[in-house]
Amino acid sequence: MWHYQPPLRDIRFVTEELLDLPARWAALPAYAELDANTARQVIEEAGKFASEMLAPLNASGDLEGCTLRDGEVTTPRGYREAYRAYVAAGWPALACDPAVGGQGLPHAINGVLSEMLNSANHGWNMYPALLHGAYECLMAHATPQLKEGYLAKIVSGEWLSTMCLTEAHAGSDLGLLKTRADPQADGSYRIRGTKIFISGGEHDLTDNIVHMVLARITDAPSGTKGISLFLVPKFLAGGERNTLRCDGIEKKMGIKGSATCVMSFEGATGWLVGEPHRGLAAMFAMMNAARLHVGLQGVGHSESAHQNSLRYALERTQMRAPQRPAERNAEVADPIALHPAVRHKLLRQRALLEGGRLLAYESAHLLDVAEQHPDVGTRHTAHDQVSLLTPVLKAFLTDNALAGALAAQQVFGGHGYMHDFGAEQCVRDCRISLIYEGTNEIQAIDLLVRKVLPDGAAKLRALIVRLDAELPEGALSARARQALSQWREATQQIVQQAAADGELPYRVADDYLRLAGLTLLAQGWARADAVAARGDSAFHMAKRETARYYFDFVLPEAGLCLAHIGAGQNPLPHLHAPSA
Ligand SMILES: Cc1cc2nc3c(=O)[nH]c(=O)nc-3n(C[C@H](O)[C@H](O)[C@H](O)COP(=O)(O)OP(=O)(O)OC[C@H]3O[C@@H](n4cnc5c(N)ncnc54)[C@H](O)[C@@H]3O)c2cc1C
Repeated sequence: MWHYQPPLRDIRFVTEELLDLPARWAALPAYAELDANTARQVIEEAGKFASEMLAPLNASGDLEGCTLRDGEVTTPRGYREAYRAYVAAGWPALACDPAVGGQGLPHAINGVLSEMLNSANHGWNMYPALLHGAYECLMAHATPQLKEGYLAKIVSGEWLSTMCLTEAHAGSDLGLLKTRADPQADGSYRIRGTKIFISGGEHDLTDNIVHMVLARITDAPSGTKGISLFLVPKFLAGGERNTLRCDGIEKKMGIKGSATCVMSFEGATGWLVGEPHRGLAAMFAMMNAARLHVGLQGVGHSESAHQNSLRYALERTQMRAPQRPAERNAEVADPIALHPAVRHKLLRQRALLEGGRLLAYESAHLLDVAEQHPDVGTRHTAHDQVSLLTPVLKAFLTDNALAGALAAQQVFGGHGYMHDFGAEQCVRDCRISLIYEGTNEIQAIDLLVRKVLPDGAAKLRALIVRLDAELPEGALSARARQALSQWREATQQIVQQAAADGELPYRVADDYLRLAGLTLLAQGWARADAVAARGDSAFHMAKRETARYYFDFVLPEAGLCLAHIGAGQNPLPHLHAPSA
């Protein structure tokens, strides 16, 4: 009932017609050889893998879930075979460095793969999705010996990895974590502690699992400054089992094919990655890429929600649509897609989905520029801008995905409440993206308090200048310019007020992030409209109509955000515990 068809036409519009990525890659020596045809072929193959191999396991994996017996986790039927095919096709290595066995393709292509895998089967994709975090940490910070022992196997996908951060009392605030690491004479550490909610902490997809664990070395300072990062494998180099185990798997709302584990480390042998007490910094170095991928999960869910609800709305008939002439035959019913209330839902989904795709792919390319451009100044500017965009991508695109999934469920009516139709699974699965990898509230604080305010919004102003300069002539561009200018003014107002009221940025952070997201999409849609105006196909005309819909019906929400930011000057009321 719930299908996935790779949206190749829209992906081509963004990657080729709008962003012209092949021309942009020419400026990056690492990708200068990559041509449009090769990129297209890779994307088409990724679409085949997602739709033919993963999508058929989506509903069955959700029903079956994972089981834990004697410390071993069994994943749903078909997961192992799909993972084997994924590895055989070389997908894990797509964006990794050729020096360690990777294929050296850009983040932008890897981003398309990520979107498709998540559209097709988020639960399954939780296993390989974490591989990149370990890869980036090890590439940037591991000793040559650790790299020698682990990198190639992670890059090839022979071993999967985890990120072990969360503890029962330490979620958003990792400064509270208690897992200990005691140094040993041979240079290794003994890790002791319990981590919760660890995705893929135990499973049957690979022979070994490489855990990246945050822990505190004996006598380390308290708080975030005393946290170090360790590599702790399930099996040690000699083949013996390390002293760690999965103590339980969570029963949870969605992504049921992904084993979410309680992991106990009982004097497990591990090795330091990077400097002692600098573990958070080492891990945060790869956060831009990791959070971009969660944003792409949002795009993936938005896509499957939209295409399935649209298909249903075109088939399902109920009542006469009001715009149709009063018919002789009152018995005839129209597809619900003709009813304006349903059309609004579908158009809103589409406007946020396609605008979000543009924002995500362009940011992925900016990440490529930040890493690969030969000019150091260009790299730094791209890095600054991608750092500003990352929390917006993560939070705005996942918020929109949940709204899009709920809209899909509503379009399916009562059938949307039933498992067999798939919409309720989409709602359940996509819900997690708002919570993990830093909750969306933490993203909003990251954007405003940690990134915009410290330099008096200088970097943000530079970003807005660039966005303004990219706008083509045209009516929609004028409206996008106005949105950019309102964003700049709201920022300036917060900068000034925050000097006297330190709590204010925290009160307005969520609305500020949404304002940023809506404005970025306005800028993207104005450009998309101008590019689509050059074509005359049905696709291009639909693109222009969606652009207009965005400006007329979605962007006005920015006014609400501005009103909330204005009201945020006043302290919030106190909360009292419920009384009997
Ligand atoms: C399915 C699943 C998979 C996961 N996978 C992993 C994994 O692989 N590895 C791993 O280490 N962790 C993982 N996590 C843990 C996840 O990252 C945390 O749940 C998340 O960081 C939030 O922490 P918490 O649950 O302790 O919530 P809390 O930190 O207690 O937050 C509770 C609420 O308070 C809000 N809040 C907290 N502090 C602030 C603040 N300063 N300002 C504003 N609001 C605030 C939060 O936004 C949230 O709404 C996973 C979680 C789930 C559910």
